[in-house]
Amino acid sequence: MIDVVVAGAGPNGLMLACELALAGVRPLVLERLTGPTEEQRANGMVGQVVRMLDRRGLYARLSGSAVPPQPAPRYVFGAFPLELAGVTDNPLYVLPVPQRRVEQVLAERAAELGVEVRRGQEVTGLSQDADSVRVSLASGETVSARWLVGADGGRSVVRKLAGIDFPGVTTDDDVSRTAHVSVAADRVDPATGGLIIDGWGIVPPFQHTRTERGLIVWAPFPDRPPSVSTAERIAGPVETGPMTLAELAASAERVVGVKVLLGPPAGEGPHLMRRLTGGNARLAEKYRAGRVLLIGDAAHVHSAIGGPGLNLGLQDAVNLGWKLAAAVHGHAPAGLLDSYEAERRPVAQRVTMSTQAQSVLVGPGSEITALRVLFGELLAKPENTRHVAALLAGADFRYEAGTAALDQVGRWAPDLVLHTGSGPVRLAELTVSARPLLLDLTGTLGAAAAPWGDRVDVITAKTEPARSGEQNATPLAGDGDVTALLLRPDCYVAWASTSDRPDERELRAALEHWFGAPYSDPRRR
Ligand SMILES: Cc1cc2nc3c(=O)[nH]c(=O)nc-3n(C[C@H](O)[C@H](O)[C@H](O)COP(=O)(O)OP(=O)(O)OC[C@H]3O[C@@H](n4cnc5c(N)ncnc54)[C@H](O)[C@@H]3O)c2cc1C
Repeated sequence: MIDVVVAGAGPNGLMLACELALAGVRPLVLERLTGPTEEQRANGMVGQVVRMLDRRGLYARLSGSAVPPQPAPRYVFGAFPLELAGVTDNPLYVLPVPQRRVEQVLAERAAELGVEVRRGQEVTGLSQDADSVRVSLASGETVSARWLVGADGGRSVVRKLAGIDFPGVTTDDDVSRTAHVSVAADRVDPATGGLIIDGWGIVPPFQHTRTERGLIVWAPFPDRPPSVSTAERIAGPVETGPMTLAELAASAERVVGVKVLLGPPAGEGPHLMRRLTGGNARLAEKYRAGRVLLIGDAAHVHSAIGGPGLNLGLQDAVNLGWKLAAAVHGHAPAGLLDSYEAERRPVAQRVTMSTQAQSVLVGPGSEITALRVLFGELLAKPENTRHVAALLAGADFRYEAGTAALDQVGRWAPDLVLHTGSGPVRLAELTVSARPLLLDLTGTLGAAAAPWGDRVDVITAKTEPARSGEQNATPLAGDGDVTALLLRPDCYVAWASTSDRPDERELRAALEHWFGAPYSDPRRR
């Protein structure tokens, strides 16, 4: 019997498959399509996921740069520019890589890790009992597995077959249009890179620009044709059939009130030409039904505004991977698998809130203009800009940390530089294996952790304080000097100490709580 079947080889299914493989489980990925999708979705990723990818060695592959991720100097929220350069401990990272490239890199990584991806295999049915799931395919075949994960997108068949409800709202009152275009060279402002529209002004690059009639975005990508997007409230019949450049230009003219000259994109296609009407904000009522689990868009759908989808979904995959692997290996402590939903569903709720709030802020009409005046005043305060940046980054929550825990516990581990005796090493280099890590700065904890040696790596090290201006080498801060940190494979802190002689009983309790009974424990013989 197969340990884990993953339905869907989109980014989140592939990421989960990589995480399972790193944890010693061989998943089988079943994908309906026979080849990579032609659909063009994400233009990039924003938020903590960028650092997560760095911690699996994937950031360098995607960015093509050996320089670790750096916080973004600016971003956008609800068509407000967010100036982040001066924000203390700026949590917002951006990686402008198209989704197709992300899927290609994840597919390559999955292949390196020995993951089998069977294409042209559509999941059409499932039944489960206490020990297994039978997955039926459109071909008539069946596959038996101990676990099934639905990573099959917003219209998830797995979610429906598992009987998991998908409550939320569907709106049908707006339409957005996007296309790759060309514009005359003298239409690009040399100072800002913005799009010059005669009689109106300059649309700044890579920002939502709102008027009282809608939204326009100009995106002059360096490595592909530039794109123009618009969004409007639906006021009459919407075109049907394939979208055209003339339709986009007419929409842009309605938004800004003057003619916008757009030409066809240069170079080889496929070129983007997309019209989307309405939208959804829906969240699965639960993420697990027996032996069936959901990740990514199968568990939550929301507006793409601000680009939070992959930040949410890829971190679902990283949260679930090690927990499901522990269940497969038989050493998952009670409640570990259910902590996946307990930790990740509230994050999805926050993303839904954030995208709904932004969708209102970019809407047309004078009341919204008034709301924006007030919101703009609030955003002029640096602490509010940081609050919004942390919301967009998905860095504004703390997982359940138990009582009397230090502030770091339940939070994302900072980007440390450690001295291990063989020179400085970034934490991101140590987490590539996706194994739990005990970072011991006291040199006293090796014996206490030894019974978990099959699952937990102990790194005896010293930390290096951040050099001035270097935000990706944060010293441990917040609760005095931290002397020991236990990290889960998803890089969240499971336990920490500030003592020169950390409490070994506390450490053992945390090890058992997250990683199960030690191998020398009679319960595991
Ligand atoms: C227009 C648009 C723009 C976006 N922009 C951004 C952005 O800039 N940044 C960002 O982070 N996110 C963005 N997103 C969101 C992002 O694209 C999604 O969150 C992401 O694709 C979800 O990945 P997934 O793996 O969960 O699902 P999907 O990408 O939908 O993949 C699901 C896979 O499952 C397969 N499948 C479906 N049914 C079955 C079945 N029955 N059996 C087997 N296989 C099946 C599908 O063929 C597909 O390959 C955007 C989305 C849209 C629509």
